Amino acid sequence: MRTKSLKPNKINIVTLGCSKNLVDSEVLLSQLKGNDIAATHESEKNDANIIVVNTCGFIDNAKQESIDTILQYVDEKEAGNIDKLYVTGCLSHRYKDELEGEIPQVDAWFGTLELSNLLRTLGADYKHELIGERLITTPQHYAYLKISEGCNRPCSFCAIPLMRGKHVSKSIEQIVLEARNLVKNGTKEIMLIAQDSTFYGIDLYGERRLAELLENLADVKGLEWIRLHYAYPSQFPEEILPIMAAKDNICKYLDIPVQHISDNVLKIMRRGISKRRTYEVLNKIKQEVPNITLRTTILVGHPGETEKDFEELKQFIQDFQFDRLGVFTYSHEENTHAHTLVDDVPAEIKQNRAEELMALQEEISIQKNNAKIGKTIKVLFDRKEGDYFIGRTEADSPEVDNEVLVDARTNFARLGDFAKVKITQAESFDLIGQILE
Ligand code: SF4
Repeated sequence: MRTKSLKPNKINIVTLGCSKNLVDSEVLLSQLKGNDIAATHESEKNDANIIVVNTCGFIDNAKQESIDTILQYVDEKEAGNIDKLYVTGCLSHRYKDELEGEIPQVDAWFGTLELSNLLRTLGADYKHELIGERLITTPQHYAYLKISEGCNRPCSFCAIPLMRGKHVSKSIEQIVLEARNLVKNGTKEIMLIAQDSTFYGIDLYGERRLAELLENLADVKGLEWIRLHYAYPSQFPEEILPIMAAKDNICKYLDIPVQHISDNVLKIMRRGISKRRTYEVLNKIKQEVPNITLRTTILVGHPGETEKDFEELKQFIQDFQFDRLGVFTYSHEENTHAHTLVDDVPAEIKQNRAEELMALQEEISIQKNNAKIGKTIKVLFDRKEGDYFIGRTEADSPEVDNEVLVDARTNFARLGDFAKVKITQAESFDLIGQILE
């Protein structure tokens, strides 16, 4: 017979998946605290008797990780270490009906847009006065700022619109208020995130307003780095480029997932852009924002991708020389358009193509890093690990890009602070240096 945990009521939130999911967990945490309910995020203290797992349902690996995490807490519940287990987030939103039957030990399942219901179940009320306020779970000096939810794009391979719904922009006022509150609490760097940040404003204002949003955010005193993620290449709002170039506190950095380059695959993926136009957009960005760091994401193994398409993609990566690159292998996701196609690229070929691209990128990255030896670069220090202080340059977003290491035995860095670092050594992805001041 399962016994009650005898622990005082305390909630521990566990987040899987992307930074957008992390922001949702932070909003949940803030609402619970706003209701005077004891809550933590990914506490290792094992003192919570209620667990909320905020899941990811994007692709196979992520789904498996979510299931494994839920089952881990099912075991905790059956062992009497926790009393209640709740699941929210994308996996729950997408597969609620099946999962309710398959894992009955979960007390309740919630979709991505069911924060009020989840709060009610946890004995809390949704506090409107907390809108714009958020307890962050990242180091205080940097935070993610979600500017919109959902996506209107028809990308064939993507299940996100199924889990996050249509594109809904937050107002410029609300985003600026959130940024000010974050700065008040010590944040110096914000990552602007969305499913598609370049669509910002169309639903709310009837036109793109990303340029205006960036200008308003650049005026927030104390905000030293504003970093733009998840730009979409098709109908790219070029009006943001002069603002990115002019504003010192807008990072000369852009994350713009292109996914592929061959016209054949871009068409099958329903990306709404051609190879020629992709090059035009990327070259325009480089031209208008000198020394910009470009990060992109590539998807290999999409149904219909031929060896010739892949060769074209390899040539593109070789020619264009992105500064930062992430590669995914295609995952055959139900209810997406691509799921109506034959998944005709064998798993092994998918994997080989991904590894080939990453090997190519490693060569590109080491060359770019070697060129930084002897240079002095502004670095924001995030943490200390072993004998090293670890930080990032303006060209590096947290958790996805490169890092700068300085020896803590011969240097002192204040975490959360900037310092000038002279680069003395380069590795494939990371840099090593000495603090100058
Ligand atoms: S832009 Fe495309 S890939 Fe990105 S979330 Fe929207 S549908 Fe998915």
